Amino acid sequence: MELNRDYILQKVEQYPTPFYLYRMDLLTATLDACKNAADKYNYKVHYALKANSDSHVLSTISSYGFGADCVSGQEILTAIENGFSPNHTAFAGVGKTDEEINIGLDTEIFTFNCESIQEIEVINELAEKKGKIARIALRINPNVNANTHKYITTGLEENKFGINRWEFETILKTLEQCQNIKLTGLHFHIGSQIVDLSAYRSLCLRVNEIQQWFIEHRILLEHINVGGGLGIDYYQPDLNPIVDFEGFFAIFNDFLELQPHQELHFELGRALVGTMGELITKVLYIKNGQRTNFAIVDAGMTELIRPALYQAYHKIENISKSTHNADEFYDVVGPICESSDCFGKRVKLPQTERGDIVAIRCAGAYGQVMANQYNLRKIPEVVYYEG
Ligand SMILES: *Cc1c(COP(=O)(O)O)cnc(C)c1O
Repeated sequence: MELNRDYILQKVEQYPTPFYLYRMDLLTATLDACKNAADKYNYKVHYALKANSDSHVLSTISSYGFGADCVSGQEILTAIENGFSPNHTAFAGVGKTDEEINIGLDTEIFTFNCESIQEIEVINELAEKKGKIARIALRINPNVNANTHKYITTGLEENKFGINRWEFETILKTLEQCQNIKLTGLHFHIGSQIVDLSAYRSLCLRVNEIQQWFIEHRILLEHINVGGGLGIDYYQPDLNPIVDFEGFFAIFNDFLELQPHQELHFELGRALVGTMGELITKVLYIKNGQRTNFAIVDAGMTELIRPALYQAYHKIENISKSTHNADEFYDVVGPICESSDCFGKRVKLPQTERGDIVAIRCAGAYGQVMANQYNLRKIPEVVYYEG
């Protein structure tokens, strides 16, 4: 399932560059692999919409029976519009507005993942007004280091996310007073693009400890949600196009102690959609510098902000030229008026010239969803390769 270069070169004749290319055959193969691996343990997987909320991608994912993980009211509505069931929709986020909470109440979602005491009180008030009971999970800050970039680490005490251990007693008091809240689970999410899977083992051990506290206080929890963050291989997308879901779920089976009848939930974003997307762009100019040559392409940080925002690596390929004689180095940069608008420094490419087509790989997650119109640029189109 390698990149189909001929297909791309043909599409470049029909669509203006840059555009996103979504390889639907790779998406469905990834979904198959994830579903088979999760079904083995009866684990429930929610798709984190924020990674990619393209409608064709969403309806493909929902057709596999995955649940949804949303971080805004609009994501809840978009998930439902695209075939996800509200019964399988979780709503996370440190800053849910009253309007968004009402969307969750009206659509009767599976759970609100609550991140503060005050949020629980507000959900209770709004649920009471509607005569409803809101199901909630407590998002716990497990204080586990995900060993990923600091901007995408979320499970440390210094991060803004979740409820900390020292707040548990107060939470119980709050819950006793909230008649329109039903506590159904615990939620965790330690970060994103996690490739050192030992972080998940640490998470399991922390969850076991935390569960113990709830057991001691005789609180029954129907589900545990361990979030997402499973990373992809940005360096070798052709060698490892699909994440090792079996290995990932096996960690939880080995180390997490579930209570009888307790369900285990996951929220995967990037691992499902990251590798299937490419940002296809055209070389506008080659500029020879003192120390480095620049390949200036027509895509910029407006279409894929990850390198500028997180110093993220994306593999870059010149698909107009054979890869065999890649022996030149270029800084591949966009046209935006920012120095950080650079997709890669000293990228090894074949001799590259104006008009060549370049693929920026693994742009399926946190690409299109973060696109913006800075410099009054157009939001690019999506081309779907069905395989
Ligand atoms: C972003 C997010 C996810 C998905 O993260 P990935 O790294 O894309 O798997 C899951 N859960 C929550 C709460 C999130 O905020």
